[in-house]
Amino acid sequence: MNKLDYSYFELPSAFYSKVRPLKFKGASTLLFNEKLARKLDISEDFIPGLLDSTSEVFDEITSPFSQAYAGHQFGHFTMLGDGRAIVLGEVVVDKRFDLQLKGSGPTPYSRRGDGRATLKAMTREYIISEAMEALHIPTSRSLGVFSTGERIFRTGSEPGAVLARVMKSHIRVGTFEYARYFLTNEALQALLNYTIERLYPSCKLASNPALEFIKTVAETQFELVTHWMRVGFIHGVMNTDNTAISGESFDYGPCAFMNQYDPNAVFSSIDKQGRYSFGNQGAIIQWNLVRLTEALLPLIDPSEEQALIIARSFIQGFEEEWNMKYQEMMTQKIGFSKADNETERLVTGLLKLMEQHGSDYTNTFAALCYAIPNSLSPWEQEAFMEWKNEWNSYANSKGITMEERLQTMRMNNPVVIPRNHLVESILSEVELWENDTSGSTRFHEAMSLWTNPYAYDESRIAWMNPPTAEENQAHQTYCGT
Ligand code: AMP
Ligand code: MG
Repeated sequence: MNKLDYSYFELPSAFYSKVRPLKFKGASTLLFNEKLARKLDISEDFIPGLLDSTSEVFDEITSPFSQAYAGHQFGHFTMLGDGRAIVLGEVVVDKRFDLQLKGSGPTPYSRRGDGRATLKAMTREYIISEAMEALHIPTSRSLGVFSTGERIFRTGSEPGAVLARVMKSHIRVGTFEYARYFLTNEALQALLNYTIERLYPSCKLASNPALEFIKTVAETQFELVTHWMRVGFIHGVMNTDNTAISGESFDYGPCAFMNQYDPNAVFSSIDKQGRYSFGNQGAIIQWNLVRLTEALLPLIDPSEEQALIIARSFIQGFEEEWNMKYQEMMTQKIGFSKADNETERLVTGLLKLMEQHGSDYTNTFAALCYAIPNSLSPWEQEAFMEWKNEWNSYANSKGITMEERLQTMRMNNPVVIPRNHLVESILSEVELWENDTSGSTRFHEAMSLWTNPYAYDESRIAWMNPPTAEENQAHQTYCGT
C-alpha cells in the first residue's frame, strides 16, 4: 500500500483538527469493495487494523484529521465541521483522493452528536454510491462498511458501523463559507489557491481566478445535478455543506430514486417545506452557487462595490446555463443529441403526461428503449401514443433514425435503479449479517443489478416493479443516520 499523503496540511491549521478514530472491540469487515481497493492499492486489513482495539500496526502511518466547515442548512447559516468523519489521509494513484472514515467517533466538531453512524445508514450509503458510479454519475465511492461491534442509540438501539469512503476532495461550498465568515481574507485566499491547485489547475491562468473558479464549479455542479434529474435521483439534503466543489455527489442520507414522476417528490422527513424536492434541485444548486460567490467576493475584486457589480452580472447567467444543461440532458433521454425548441416542447409535454398519469419515471423511459411488459409501460394509453407520433414526426423531419434514437436513449435511461422499497427491504436484513462477512445473498444479487443499470433482459423484470401503495407508504419518510 502506498503511503498516505497530507497536502491538506498546507492550509492554515484553522481548516482542520487532528483527531484519531476510535478503537473498537471486535471491529470486523462487513462489506469490502475489492475492485476499488485494488485501484487505490489499499489492503483489506488496513481499515479493520486501524479500528480494531487489539491492533496498532497501522497507527503510525496515519495522521488523521477532521475538516472544519460551515454551511447553510435548509437556508440557515451555521458552523459545522466533520462531526463524525475523519480523513485518514490522501491516496495518490493517478489522481489524489481523500480516504475518509464516517462514524468512527467524536471530533472537535461533534457538538452534541455521538460521532457514530448506524450500520443501516452506512450500508445505504455504500449501496447508493456504488449504484451512482454505475449510472455514470460523479460520486464519492465506498471502500467498505466495517461493523464496530457497538450498539448505538437512535430511535432504538442499533448496530454501529464505520464507512470508508473515497472522494477527489471533501472541500465543499461550506468550507469557503467558513473561511469567509470565520477566518481572514488570507485564509480564504489560501483555500482558493489550494483548491484550484488540487481540482481545477487551469483556473490559475485566468485573468480573474476566483471568478473562473466559480464558473468551473458551476459547470461541474450543473453537470452533476442534471445527471440526478436524468435518473430521478433526489439527494434530500442539498445544504451548502453537502455540495462538493469537486462536483461529486456525496453524503447520501435521506436520498432516494423517484418512482412515479412528481416534481414535488421529497424523501426526507425533515424537509417539510419541499425545499429539496426533485423539481427544485436545479434552483437549489443555483442558490448554493450564489452562496459560494458571496463567500468569494473579496477575491473577485478588492473593492467591495466593484466585486458586487461583477458578481451580480455573473450570477444572473446561472439560470440560463442551468436551463441549457438541463434541456441538453433531457433531450438525450428522448433520443436526440441536440436540443432545440421542438425537443424542449417534447420533453415538457412528456413530463406533463407522466405527472397527469402518475407514470413511473424510470419505466416510462425504459419502455421507449426496450420491449418491457405492458404492465410496466404507459405507452399503450392514447395520450402517450399521441406524444409518440409527434416524437416520430420530429425525428423524421430531422432524418434521425429509430436506431440512432435507441442508441442514445439506451445510454441515458437506466432500467434498474435502487428503488427505495427494495433498498429498505435489504437494509432490514442487514443486522443479521453481523459477523457474517459473506453478507446476504439478496444484497449481492441486488448489487449485481444496480451496478449494471442500463442492461435489459426478462430476468430483470422483477426488479423493475414500482412499489405497491403499501410499500410506498411504509418507506416514504425516514431520516436514517
Ligand atoms: P449531514 O447533513 O449528514 O451532512 O450532517 C450535518 C452535520 O451534522 C455535519 O457537520 C455532520 O458531521 C454532523 N453530524 C451528523 N451526525 C452526527 C453524529 N452522529 N455525531 C456528530 N456529528 C454529526
Ligand atoms: Mg454532510
